[in-house]
Amino acid sequence: MAHNSTNNVQIFNKPRVELHLHLDGAIKPETILYFGKKRGIKLPADSVEGLMSYVGYDEPRNLTQFLEIFSYYMPAIAGDLTPDEVVHLVNQGFQEGEKHFKIKARSILCCMRHMPEWSTEIVSLCKKYRNEGVVGMDLAGDESLNCKLNSGHCTAYEEAFKNGIHRTVHAGEVGPSTVVKEAVDVLKAERIGHGYHTIDDFCLYKRLLKLNIHFEICPWSSYLTGACDPDLMKHPAIRFRKDKANYSLNTDDPLIFKSTLDKDYCVVSKYMGFTEDDFMEANINGARSCFLPDKEKEELLMTLYEAYGMVQSTVC
Ligand SMILES: [Zn+2]
Repeated sequence: MAHNSTNNVQIFNKPRVELHLHLDGAIKPETILYFGKKRGIKLPADSVEGLMSYVGYDEPRNLTQFLEIFSYYMPAIAGDLTPDEVVHLVNQGFQEGEKHFKIKARSILCCMRHMPEWSTEIVSLCKKYRNEGVVGMDLAGDESLNCKLNSGHCTAYEEAFKNGIHRTVHAGEVGPSTVVKEAVDVLKAERIGHGYHTIDDFCLYKRLLKLNIHFEICPWSSYLTGACDPDLMKHPAIRFRKDKANYSLNTDDPLIFKSTLDKDYCVVSKYMGFTEDDFMEANINGARSCFLPDKEKEELLMTLYEAYGMVQSTVC
């Protein structure tokens, strides 16, 4: 099923909040080439078009095949970048967003499921840089290969909880609802990355609705990683919307999915019947569930209420 007709047309011309955007999946190909050349690291191609033929795609694959793409270019950008290089990377990655409105970018440091030995260092870095833009930690990786939660991750998340570091976890993307349950009950996640398979366990889903757990939905990503039924008209986002769940709309990895946030808005509008009111609600949800400090969160909500023509209500 081709969805090219939904390609990056802006249908919601108002301020938007995005909570789930991987920096290493949002870099411009030009930036990868720049770092590859600068650091003498060989890439599969030396032109934008050539590189995109390796890293970008727009027909469904599975999560494992999707994650393999990172190995083509991560060596060029990973490692000991200087502060100047990191700034360059961030600026390039967020260029798209800057077109829409003034960005409030904050970082969430990400642990990987298959690298539990790194989690302790990740939480230490979260603590060290908490006043310099780092607001939380995440756990990502291939749920389909290994769903078993390592005690290294548990200890790191416990440390984050004790130190007031916000927590989100990729769960229930391709993995079962038990991974989501574990994320909330064991890792004390406040937000779930994706979470589509939560709805397979009605009791859990009902409980998470009550707890107001936030779901970072990435519609176009879920289509291309095979996380959900390829028929977008059966996507769990429809259920989330109907049940007034706390969710937001996000791109995930726009470099690889050859997308912008507009693509995701177009997809949910065209195939799931989302309206302007739904978009406003998703963005208010996103602002309420973001990990910004309270004062900045309040300012962000006020910006949205004003732009959406809503009466200012009590800020949560
Ligand atoms: Zn993600």
